[in-house]
Amino acid sequence: MPDVIVIGSGLGGLSAAVSLAARGLKVTVLEAAPTLGGKANIVTLDGVECDTGPSVLTLPDTLDAVLQEAGTRLADEVTLLTPSPAFRYVTARGETLDLMPTLPETLAHVHERLGAEAARELEGFMADAAEIWALSKIAFVYGPAPSVRSLWELGPAKMAGFGRVDPFRSMWSAICNKVKHPLLRMILARYATYNGSDPRAAPATLNCIAHVEIGLGGYGVRGGVYSLVRAFVRVAERLGVSFRASSPVESVIVEGGRAVGVTLRGGEALRAGSVVCNADVAHLHEHLLPKAQRRVVEAPETPSMSGWTGLVRARRRVGADARAAHTVLFPEEYLDEFADIFDRDRPPQSPTVYCCAQEPCHGRPGWADHEPVFIMTNAPPEPKSGARPAEVYAALRDRALGRLRAAGLIDPDDAVVWERPPSGLAAAYPGSRGALYGASSNSLFAAFKRPANRVRGLPGLYLASGSAHPGGGMPLCVLSGRMAARHVLEDLGVLTPGAP
Ligand SMILES: Cc1cc2nc3c(=O)[nH]c(=O)nc-3n(C[C@H](O)[C@H](O)[C@H](O)COP(=O)(O)OP(=O)(O)OC[C@H]3O[C@@H](n4cnc5c(N)ncnc54)[C@H](O)[C@@H]3O)c2cc1C
Repeated sequence: MPDVIVIGSGLGGLSAAVSLAARGLKVTVLEAAPTLGGKANIVTLDGVECDTGPSVLTLPDTLDAVLQEAGTRLADEVTLLTPSPAFRYVTARGETLDLMPTLPETLAHVHERLGAEAARELEGFMADAAEIWALSKIAFVYGPAPSVRSLWELGPAKMAGFGRVDPFRSMWSAICNKVKHPLLRMILARYATYNGSDPRAAPATLNCIAHVEIGLGGYGVRGGVYSLVRAFVRVAERLGVSFRASSPVESVIVEGGRAVGVTLRGGEALRAGSVVCNADVAHLHEHLLPKAQRRVVEAPETPSMSGWTGLVRARRRVGADARAAHTVLFPEEYLDEFADIFDRDRPPQSPTVYCCAQEPCHGRPGWADHEPVFIMTNAPPEPKSGARPAEVYAALRDRALGRLRAAGLIDPDDAVVWERPPSGLAAAYPGSRGALYGASSNSLFAAFKRPANRVRGLPGLYLASGSAHPGGGMPLCVLSGRMAARHVLEDLGVLTPGAP
């Protein structure tokens, strides 16, 4: 009998498994899909492995911290890359701006392209973003799940400082207040999409995401982002973690008011001292928990954005024509995209198109004359009941491809060789409705509503995923897993609560 069962092998589940096994616990990971990794995954097309999920790694220290618990280091397991330019932004009129690997280089480039005032404004914005990050990262990201009570317990001096993290206006209103250049405004507002939110509604606290990427760095991973999954699985296996793929959990067994194991599809029951759920909390709530315990976790009211994703087999470009690692094609009216998604509940009529050229980004070799280019456009999460018709997503794909061709980023005969609309994501990740990052952060209270990593009403059950604290995105999911593991270890008396 394992000490801990982990339901799901997404990065949150893998991080929890490594952290627990590093302290000597016997861990079994049960994964519904045939491959491990959850949303961080791959597809092999004509002999070439391509990432189908995340493409930018931020905050690598969060991954390093878990691996260090296991006696290794991120740098010993994978090679991070810093492509230059990091991001190329293109407006509807063809104006371009590159973001470079470091802030000083970016500021110098902005100065050269957009002038001294634009560079000065961006520098001021980035200084504020860095301050917000410094003030908020423990309370909202690295520490245990925040609550109004935990804020109150900080005491009057720190509570007064809460206003300095800019929570009472929207990201967009703070951006417009600090930066005049329209392209810089769009670039900065786009960071709301890093947790699937709406810059018109998300609190300006989230402007710290710009600091996380532009200031602290966004990385490629040699061989592809899936190398991170492989590294975590390898380290977990070294510690004795056992993995069972193609093993969907059907229910959590509750006895005497405590989670004591799971039942697999087919009826096999597996018992354990504790259960860590990496599956979406909505799936746990709706399907895995017995009816009487369902209320211990709630599905998010407003899931984050979903997206249409695809892979294009694109003729390789070299030299001066080489594609940037990441390119973003903005529409004429950027905010219309969010009005379509969040107000009108429909895919954007004029979408922003993101592409990641996986060769320059991750040093991943493609086909003989072609390279894999990952494409994504934002879309609303799937409706609560039923799926949006396939034609809606086919039209979104055609708009995205039209834009890419018009901008000269792909050739007319470059073909889409793999695609997944939001309905595909919703089917692959039950309970998610296709949302990429758990709940959206479209309100001041979002961080307080996210489920904590220890389920209060059901001892023995813990949450480790983008749908729990501290939210979605690879580094945050890894923190989620680490925090869940920490609570398991505290409850077993292996760690003292509050100890470093
Ligand atoms: C297209 C796309 C682009 C993204 N881009 C970025 C990016 O550039 N940078 C970034 O940091 N993040 C990005 N993200 C977000 C990031 O990938 C996710 O936040 C993160 O990988 C989710 O990890 P998780 O721990 O929540 O688990 P998930 O990845 O959600 O995995 C959960 C696992 O649980 C399994 N499961 C579910 N139910 C059961 C069950 N009943 N029994 C057994 N197993 C079950 C699922 O099969 C799955 O493997 C992107 C995501 C996508 C999809």
